[in-house]
Amino acid sequence: MEGKDSSLSTQFPKKQTVVETTSDKNNAGQIFKFNTLQETTTAIQNVEMDTLTKFIFLRRKKNDLTKSKVQWDAQENIPFVVKSFTKYECQHGKDRNKTKNLKRQNQFKGPADHMYEAKKYLCVQGSKKMNCTACLNIREILTFPDYKVKTEDKWKKQKTSQHLKTVGFSSVKNSASCFIVLFPSIHDHSGHPVGEVK
Ligand SMILES: [Zn+2]
Repeated sequence: MEGKDSSLSTQFPKKQTVVETTSDKNNAGQIFKFNTLQETTTAIQNVEMDTLTKFIFLRRKKNDLTKSKVQWDAQENIPFVVKSFTKYECQHGKDRNKTKNLKRQNQFKGPADHMYEAKKYLCVQGSKKMNCTACLNIREILTFPDYKVKTEDKWKKQKTSQHLKTVGFSSVKNSASCFIVLFPSIHDHSGHPVGEVK
């Protein structure tokens, strides 16, 4: 692929924070932080439009905040916990219906049932699935800006983490939810055309 500038960063409004970029910007995804779900959704839609891709919901895992572990933002030294993890995959991803139908097909003993299932399976084959492995991950986090530490002080961080845990993460004052999105690069897509990012 000869993408001139495949960096997705140019597609975002200026105010978004790039949390992390990997060294090879043509081959790896980028991580962005958004303050609201609306901003997150808009950014995803922009990427979908610019790259002619579409992501579909795969699964969401909500964390139990009473058991969460405090993590630290490496750039700002602000503590946070992860509230939920959501995964989306490319619409040309794995054909999960096909696997399901095949399994179901094997369970049927009668020939009539079998034929019915086989017909259904043929319909599914004409779907958009191409086994593309590109996916998009969203972590919803709860940050505690009041507990920012000024220096890289391990002991201070440990103390702060312990304090937050004792207070209870959902009871900490001035906490803020935000969304960290790991976008795939267009090179993560395979088996189908993608748009050129100009
Ligand atoms: Zn794809």
